[in-house]
Amino acid sequence: MPLLVVGSVALDSVETPFGKADEVLGGSATYFSASASHQTSVKLVGVVGSDYPVDKLDEALRTRGIDLAGLERAEGESFRWRGRYRHDLNSAETLETRLGVFSHFRPKLPEQFKSARYVFLANIDPRLQLQVLEQVDKPKFVACDTMNFWIESRRGDLMELLKHVDLITLNDGEARQLTEQANLVQAARWILARGPKTVLIKKGEHGAFMFTKDSIFYAPAYPLEAVFDPTGAGDSFAGGFMGYLARTDDLSEANLRRAVVIGSAMGSFVVEAFSITRLLSVTRDDIDRRVADFHRLVSFDQGMPS
Ligand code: AMP
Repeated sequence: MPLLVVGSVALDSVETPFGKADEVLGGSATYFSASASHQTSVKLVGVVGSDYPVDKLDEALRTRGIDLAGLERAEGESFRWRGRYRHDLNSAETLETRLGVFSHFRPKLPEQFKSARYVFLANIDPRLQLQVLEQVDKPKFVACDTMNFWIESRRGDLMELLKHVDLITLNDGEARQLTEQANLVQAARWILARGPKTVLIKKGEHGAFMFTKDSIFYAPAYPLEAVFDPTGAGDSFAGGFMGYLARTDDLSEANLRRAVVIGSAMGSFVVEAFSITRLLSVTRDDIDRRVADFHRLVSFDQGMPS
């Protein structure tokens, strides 16, 4: 099943304890689609400015079969994000966010995008997420992401968006900020009472929790020896998760759990290099091997009842 994504297509400048990258391909939709393309075909909706290296993006994403018919090229500056990670690689410090052409963007879906059954509203202004959703005919499964920037500046729109999505993914800090609940189980309950049937809370190197009304599932993060740049881990997680759901077209609890592990695997690859580099080189075999590693990581023999 084809998967539609709207989100930022950015130029990122990132500093980590291991190096620096300037104006590299980034953005939530870019990471998401590069990751999801290992599972299914992806249609991307977004905008870039006249200064964007479209050829580079085109080469990277089109070779992965990503449909860029919904990528608008507008006059003006592209979206830019500048961030830094110190030794705690779990949390990015945003140094600058420049919306550029995203501040006047009115998404208009190409006709052939409107029938998408799986939709991911990646991290971007919730007003744009809502505008995209209005144009999709009858999606089977809609998920969204967000971040502190939008929780602070667009809370009302975000609350409206929650009513229209099946699932939300966010990290632990964002979940606490959105819900004003310190406890993550209570934060998840708060969100579940406002629309989504499933809440995915990511905790960086400490893994991810999936909450529904009746269940909690936990998947660890892959214990990597070296994390180079955590940028895009969340979007790549979401790409693996949604890509797998769209490919299998199965929304059972068991399949959602498998999708969380695929997401965790994709998140663990992207952090091995700057930008989307690793997502472009990773193979289906690499992904399968890492999923098998996850299985070994969490299986244990329960032994005799005490
Ligand atoms: P993450 O997966 O959470 O590490 O997301 C990293 C990506 O989010 C970067 O490539 C940024 O360009 C993008 N980003 C940062 N801030 C925003 C924002 N306010 N809205 C949309 N995308 C953003």
